[in-house]
Amino acid sequence: MMFFKVLKLLLKKPFTNKFPVKYAPKNTLGLVEKVQKGEVKINPPVATPPGFRGKLEYDIDECVGCGLCAQVCPSHAIELVRDKKWIIMHCKEGAKLAAPLKIKIYVSRCVFCGQCVDVCPRKCLKMSDEFLLANEDKLAEDLIIPGP
Ligand code: SF4
Ligand code: SF4
Repeated sequence: MMFFKVLKLLLKKPFTNKFPVKYAPKNTLGLVEKVQKGEVKINPPVATPPGFRGKLEYDIDECVGCGLCAQVCPSHAIELVRDKKWIIMHCKEGAKLAAPLKIKIYVSRCVFCGQCVDVCPRKCLKMSDEFLLANEDKLAEDLIIPGP
């Protein structure tokens, strides 16, 4: 039984990306030049498997600001923020102007657990295939989603 399991795993395609070239280059810019000239072949990236949990995507228009995602997030990566657009809200006291709540996600804090996706009643959060997120600046523009 174990033998067949091992055999099955050996025949499976790898999920990890190989390093772009066979040997680590001494000089990255030199490598880029060689690739441009067609002197070096780059390993193509491996497709992400189904269910891959990459950078979150947020549909701000669908969000009702309930805050459930922020409550379940184990790494406090989600912040509730006021929308810049004011809307007319109808309540018991009548109509009033209010700025609805939306969210802002700090991707550098995210541990990709997917709990916010599961809990969102409006299905406005989903996990994409994007995984190239390394950055020295944890507050870089592409690491903050998106805030109103
Ligand atoms: S995936 Fe997990 S860690 Fe990332 S924002 Fe959602 S709840 Fe927080
Ligand atoms: S759970 Fe969904 S609807 Fe509620 S604040 Fe988060 S993203 Fe918006």
